[in-house]
Amino acid sequence: MSYVLVLNSGSSSVKFQVVDPTAAATDAPLVSGLVEQVGEPKGSVTVKTGGEKFTEELEIPNHSVGLNRAFEIMHEHKVGPQDVELIAVGHRVVHGGQIFSEPVVIDDNAESKIEDLIPLAPLHNPANLDGIRTARAILPDVPHVAVFDTAFFNTMPQAAALYAINSEVAKEHNIRRYGFHGTSHEFVSQQVPGLIERDPAETNQITLHLGNGASCAAVANGKAIDTSMGLTPLAGLVMGTRCGDVDPGIIFHLARQAGMGIDEIDNLLNKQSGVKGIAGVNDFRVLHEKIQGGDSQAKLAYEIYIHQLRRFIGSYMIALGRVDAITFTAGVGENDDDVRADALAGLEMYGIKLDKEKNSVRSSEARVISTPDSAVKVLVVPTNEELAIAQKATELVS
Ligand code: AMP
Repeated sequence: MSYVLVLNSGSSSVKFQVVDPTAAATDAPLVSGLVEQVGEPKGSVTVKTGGEKFTEELEIPNHSVGLNRAFEIMHEHKVGPQDVELIAVGHRVVHGGQIFSEPVVIDDNAESKIEDLIPLAPLHNPANLDGIRTARAILPDVPHVAVFDTAFFNTMPQAAALYAINSEVAKEHNIRRYGFHGTSHEFVSQQVPGLIERDPAETNQITLHLGNGASCAAVANGKAIDTSMGLTPLAGLVMGTRCGDVDPGIIFHLARQAGMGIDEIDNLLNKQSGVKGIAGVNDFRVLHEKIQGGDSQAKLAYEIYIHQLRRFIGSYMIALGRVDAITFTAGVGENDDDVRADALAGLEMYGIKLDKEKNSVRSSEARVISTPDSAVKVLVVPTNEELAIAQKATELVS
C-alpha cells in the first residue's frame, strides 16, 4: 500500500499524518502525531498509531530535531518513512498568493516563491517553509508537494476578490480577498454532487466550514465565486476567538480613543474576540452548557454567531441565484445540530427544509439532513484536510 506523509508546520509545532490517499474521509490515518513547543526548553513529540499513543518529552531546539525524533519513534513501531512505501510528502502551505492556484511539486524555485509570499502571511508561511526545508533535507528522495489553503479561491471573479479601496495602494501591496480553508471547501464541495445525484458541472452550493476557525464559500459548478475570509483569515464569520467582519473604523477608534497599539489590536481581534471574547469560552460544547445554565453572555455570543452566519448564507444565495445544496463541515458544522437548525430556521420559503430527526442523528458519515421535498439539499460532510492534501499530492506525482 502507498502512503503520503502530510505535514502542517506551525512556528512552534508540526502536525503530521501518514495517510493512505485512497482511504475514506472518516478512516483513521496509519499514523498521526504532533511535535510541540519547538524552541522551548521542554518540548514533546507524540505519535499515535494502531490505537496506541507514545509521548516523549525532550528539548526540541528546531523543527529538524522534532521531526527526526518523530520519525525514529514511528520506525520503532514499523510505521516510519523508511518502513512504508512513501509516494510523496504533502505540505500544507497557508498562503499561495496570486501565484499558486494548484498544488506544486516543491523545488528550489517553488520554495523561493513561497518565501516571496511571506509579507502576505508573516506568521504562517515562514513556519510552513521551515517544515518544507526540514522535510526535504530528511527525505530528499521523495517528491514534496505544497498544497495551498488559498488555491481554491484563486479563480474568483474580480468583483468578489477585490476590495473597494484605492486601486494603486491595493495593487502595490497585493491587497485582495484570498480566502482560506480552500482545501476543505474543495474537498467537501466535490463530494456533494454525488451525494445528491447531480452533475458536478451543474451544482451550485454553499459550503460552511465551521470549526474553531470558520469560513463559508459560494461554489458555482465546481468553482468558488465568493468566500468569507479575506486578505487574512480574520474576516467573515464569527469564529472561536476571531471577530470576523467588523467595521474597519473600529481599528482607528481603538488606536485613537483607547490608545491601543497595532499588535495589541491584532491580538484583541484574532485571539480575544469571537465567541470567546463574548462568552469567555470558544468550545461550542461548553458554550451550550453555559446557555443551558442561564449564562446571558453565552446566549448573546451564540446569537451573534448565528446572525452573522445567516447573513452570509443569505448573501451567497443571491450571489448564486439557484442553490442546490448547503453543506456543513468541521468541528461545529459536523457535530452541532443546534447550530445547523438555527442557521437555517424559517427559510422554507426559499426551499430550505431541514429534517429535524435527520439533523439530530449523530454520525461520522456524509449525509443529507433535509426533507425529501426540500428544493435545497442540506448536508453534513466530514472534512479531512490531511486526506485532501494526500490525494492532491498523489494526483500530482503519479
Ligand atoms: P475544528 O477547528 O474543526 O477542529 O473544530 C473545533 C471546534 O469544534 C471546537 O472548538 C468545538 O467548538 C467544536 N466541536 C467539536 N466537537 C463538538 C461537538 N460534539 N459539539 C459541538 N461542537 C463541537
